[in-house]
Amino acid sequence: MLRGKTALVTGSTSGIGLGIARALAGQGANIVLNGFGDVEGPRAAVAALGVQVGYHGADMSRPAEIETMMAYAASTFGRVDILVNNAGIQHVARIENFPPERWDAIIAINLSSAFHATRLALPAMREANWGRIINLASVHGLVASAEKSAYVAAKHGLVGLTKVTALENATTGVTCNAICPGWVLTPLVQKQVDARAAAQGVSNDEAIRQLLGEKEPSVQFTTPEELGALAVFLCSSAGNNVRGVAWNMDGGWAAQ
Ligand code: NAD
Repeated sequence: MLRGKTALVTGSTSGIGLGIARALAGQGANIVLNGFGDVEGPRAAVAALGVQVGYHGADMSRPAEIETMMAYAASTFGRVDILVNNAGIQHVARIENFPPERWDAIIAINLSSAFHATRLALPAMREANWGRIINLASVHGLVASAEKSAYVAAKHGLVGLTKVTALENATTGVTCNAICPGWVLTPLVQKQVDARAAAQGVSNDEAIRQLLGEKEPSVQFTTPEELGALAVFLCSSAGNNVRGVAWNMDGGWAAQ
């Protein structure tokens, strides 16, 4: 379905980004990976699906590096047809204790990076009259939780950016939508499980049960594979007129 297309997925060396990269590669898309940590494992996992795989290690908090990454993707693959703005970090603290540098980093990585990658990807998408921009927001783009000020602000901002991007391109073949997961068991969430287990003196399993039980009625994690399947749908022709939505996959979290 996506053979001949190229997808750039930011923050795709781990978790949800890697799950989406694999799902898009499973449909034949060539992939540009980005992110920190182990690169060779993710690269091999995606290449095993029979597509071409590139990698750029741009730090998504730095606009100049995002520009270099987008230029690398264009020169290596011709064009970015699918942009998945997924890189993200978390920090949990009350506002009065929230380190200002953590606020700046979260806004830069979880929100501003999507603006930069989008503004750089749009001209070629519009010229081709086809493109897909998928922003990994969160259920925290729709509702709030205490102690997540920067994250909630960034994700609400990302849902807003999604709507503007969709509107500005509404008469073209370029769509933009947001995906809003509830809890997904990735390294980003395991840190929160570890913190809860330590603070409460409970086991890993009990910390997970508490975490899910507080907010997510299904009491189960969404998986990177399920999120990958939603991204594939948004890239399909059935998604041609899905524009500016914030689609939660959250076990009923935001329905409450
Ligand atoms: P993760 O920690 O498993 O992966 C994050 C990825 O981003 C990694 O590849 C990491 O290397 C990369 N990254 C971090 N900082 C970067 C930077 N400065 N430059 C480039 N890459 C950077 O996290 P995840 O849970 O897979 O999260 C992915 C996205 O999904 C994030 O935007 C997150 O907010 C969102 N999300 C996660 C959950 C969840 O429960 N895990 C829920 C809702 C939304």
